[in-house]
Amino acid sequence: MSDTIKALTETVRGRVITASDPGYDEARAVYNAMHDRKPHAVVRCTDSADVMAVIAAARDSGVDLAVRGGGHSVPGFGTVDDGLVIDLSPMNGVRVDPAKKVARVGGGATLGDVDHATYPFGLAAPGGVVSTTGVAGLTLGGGIGYLTRGVGLTIDSLLSADVVLADGRQVTASDYQNEDLFWALRGGGGNFGVVTSFEFQLHEVGDVVGGPLFYDFDDATAVLECYRSYIDEAPEQLGCFFGWQIAPPLPFIPEDRVGDLFCVLVTCWNGPHQEAERVLRPLRDVAEVQADQVEVSPFPALQSAFDDLVPKGMRNYWKADFATGLTDEAIAAHVEHGERTPNVSSSMHLHPINGAAQRVGADETAFGHRDKSFAPVIVGIWPDPADNEANTKWVRDYYTAIHPHSGSEGGYINFMSGDDDHRAADNYGANHERLCSAKAAYDPDNLFHVNQNIAPANGR
Ligand SMILES: Cc1cc2nc3c(=O)[nH]c(=O)nc-3n(C[C@H](O)[C@H](O)[C@H](O)COP(=O)(O)OP(=O)(O)OC[C@H]3O[C@@H](n4cnc5c(N)ncnc54)[C@H](O)[C@@H]3O)c2cc1C
Repeated sequence: MSDTIKALTETVRGRVITASDPGYDEARAVYNAMHDRKPHAVVRCTDSADVMAVIAAARDSGVDLAVRGGGHSVPGFGTVDDGLVIDLSPMNGVRVDPAKKVARVGGGATLGDVDHATYPFGLAAPGGVVSTTGVAGLTLGGGIGYLTRGVGLTIDSLLSADVVLADGRQVTASDYQNEDLFWALRGGGGNFGVVTSFEFQLHEVGDVVGGPLFYDFDDATAVLECYRSYIDEAPEQLGCFFGWQIAPPLPFIPEDRVGDLFCVLVTCWNGPHQEAERVLRPLRDVAEVQADQVEVSPFPALQSAFDDLVPKGMRNYWKADFATGLTDEAIAAHVEHGERTPNVSSSMHLHPINGAAQRVGADETAFGHRDKSFAPVIVGIWPDPADNEANTKWVRDYYTAIHPHSGSEGGYINFMSGDDDHRAADNYGANHERLCSAKAAYDPDNLFHVNQNIAPANGR
């Protein structure tokens, strides 16, 4: 391996960081501290040529290859033992064309990088709800966030992608070139190549009216029942997810309620500001709001409002489903297990995936679950390894209780843990077979296998 590393060091422009370098521990660390892996080298790629060089090195030496965008993958797919890591973090540039309302985004950008660049133009690309998340992994899995109901999943705003393939060629995938690859990239995860840049359609999003409404835990059933019908009918400019939240010590939380468990509705209204109160009225009427942080704020401020609750370096274990609806039995299971939410960083988020996201056909992109209304995710996040077992158990028990009421076998690949790999066929749903064919065409030897893997149809 040392010859390979030496050759890489001579070829690439970015840093090649190995165990003998002082920055090795920092370079190999990913968001989820459960994954303490030791690659032969982390290569901080600066351009497509660097990416091509690392792909060739991995292919020729036969070692595992991990590809890292923002490094947020809960299963730790952005790192690997005894292999090579393509770290795209230096490739985080964003170029906005305000006339065309289009952004060109580097493969290592975070949502925060995109927001920072687009907000001054009154524009945004649909992302998620935490700004440190990588654009690449989030987009390739689908992309669920505040703007999903209004403009669709992140992939629904993807116009094209530059991709370095397993054979070392770079191609562009769009509706007009390599259409089968473009289809597969939109929901098929990191299976098909390394995306060095994305081109997104932007949308008019400036200052929004949004933030969390906190309700007493005892009102959770009423809030969930209200949310179920409300989110079906609310104007699509409203993003709004339900969650559990142990109150952190923040200025808008009454001092004597810090540490209490609440249920929350986190809102984001991207319509005329004067209409916000009318739209949110049913949510204020369902139960007494105990803490209220709904205010006019720049979209990037809302999309980074929870960053501090979920810092890098904590231990993570998550589980996820897609749900066709929210039955009374599901609500009862949520309330039973929500009450045991273990700490301030852990939660269950019930993300709506209706509105514009449902107007795209199930076979138009690789994200096949267009008939589902919710993407519930049970998020276990804690600092101390001594709590691994208790927190993992909370997530598993919660999942076991809600899954029978989901009306679906699959879940969102981006909200899963490593032990959910066996769910790939369900997660990709009716599109799985076509994805296996695309995999056989673009990565027949499964070079890109450190991901929620799609086996090439040729069986190699
Ligand atoms: C705190 C937190 C909040 C989140 N919030 C949301 C949310 O609101 N909405 C949502 O949809 N998801 C959310 N997620 C899930 C998130 O979408 C996934 O974790 C996603 O994989 C992160 O992408 P990344 O680039 O940061 O991760 P990485 O770990 O870098 O990569 C994830 C996967 O994508 C592949 N990959 C990364 N970059 C590239 C590339 N350039 N080309 C090809 N393959 C690549 C990797 O190989 C890996 O398989 C959240 C995750 C966390 C930890």
